[in-house]
Amino acid sequence: MSQYRIFNHEDAIGYVRQTARLDPDVTLQGEEIGDGNLNQVFKVCQPGKAKGFIVKQALPYIRCIGESWPLTRDRARIEAEILLYHGQYSPEYTVAVLHHDPALSVILLEDLSDLQVWRQALLEGQHFADAPAQLGIYLAQVHVHSSDFRLDYLGQRTAQLQFANPELMAISEAVYFVDPFCDHERNNVAPEIRDDAEQLWADQALKLRVARLKHDFRCKGQALLHGDLHTGSVMVAAGRLKVIDAEFGGYGPMGFDLGVIIANLLLNFCSQSSAPRRLQRIQDISALWHSYHAQCLRLARETPDPALAAPEYINDFLQRVWQDALGYAGCEIIRRTIGVAHVADIDNMADPVQKTASQRQALALGRMLIMSADQLDEAQLEKTLLQQSTETER
Ligand code: ADP
Ligand code: MG
Repeated sequence: MSQYRIFNHEDAIGYVRQTARLDPDVTLQGEEIGDGNLNQVFKVCQPGKAKGFIVKQALPYIRCIGESWPLTRDRARIEAEILLYHGQYSPEYTVAVLHHDPALSVILLEDLSDLQVWRQALLEGQHFADAPAQLGIYLAQVHVHSSDFRLDYLGQRTAQLQFANPELMAISEAVYFVDPFCDHERNNVAPEIRDDAEQLWADQALKLRVARLKHDFRCKGQALLHGDLHTGSVMVAAGRLKVIDAEFGGYGPMGFDLGVIIANLLLNFCSQSSAPRRLQRIQDISALWHSYHAQCLRLARETPDPALAAPEYINDFLQRVWQDALGYAGCEIIRRTIGVAHVADIDNMADPVQKTASQRQALALGRMLIMSADQLDEAQLEKTLLQQSTETER
């Protein structure tokens, strides 16, 4: 059994040689390409070749914080197992795991260098029109296949145990539902919106809603979630899409994944001064939901459980997933605005006045989504966003 050590690029090359069954004479070079948040990510390839292999290794702590925030290395095993499981049901849209070594906390992944991170593409003003519908199909495939629509009691309980991810999901619980709703030392609140944050912290009605979302996040183990589906976990190219980085995955409410990705599109919406780009984000959300809904309906109808097969049941179920999604979208928007981890879409805005306006808009939108989750269907959300888009014309 291999002994854990923190990889440098030579170790990454050695690991690729051992596991990728390459000709022993072939020359390989390696470099770190990760943006350095949680883990190390190396690209290893032959000189002059654009594509090779990706080696992702978990450190025994959170990389961007350091040894003061220890974190289980077992997250690499969990990530590999989740990607493999999701890859069974959504091979087209899940990054391929070629090998993994739990002792070294390392994963060998297919190299997606010919795709780009969706957040980056959005920041550059690029529009990948197929991405939302593809992501809707991916989410429906991984959600329905790991849910009670497909698994019997024993099968689903066994999967819930196999994919238990207590350490990372406890972090999610804290950063989504606890920190942003109180004056927590981990928060990162810009002085200009301190008053707005304090208003949220004093908002009892909002906190009651968030308490319910937090409870459901812990107790509503509907499906094997990706768990961190922001636009930085999605890689895109014309007509292609792959989801990466599933280390926060585990069983939870289906609306969580859907809400997180909707929220990231909305954060980009809030950062845009261009009306056509805001409109694109509104259309992205609509396309994502319609694709998710249609694909879930199709896959859920094939359930072997006659009690769940009735279209009325499935439609009602999906209606509740939508409501959950709006609540979780609200939490994600708020936590990305005043919590520990922000998004580049808003943080990188050059004009400080517009940036503050965007942060304020994000907080208000996040609150509205949490409070109105039971009342807004998709068409009403679209209408509200279109109104906001015109009001914030600048
Ligand atoms: P972390 O868990 O540390 O956030 P990620 O899995 O998000 O690591 O990867 C960090 C970065 O490395 C990504 O934003 C992307 O730029 C790059 N990357 C990750 N996986 C791949 C891959 N399979 N192919 C190409 N680039 C990748
Ligand atoms: Mg990550």
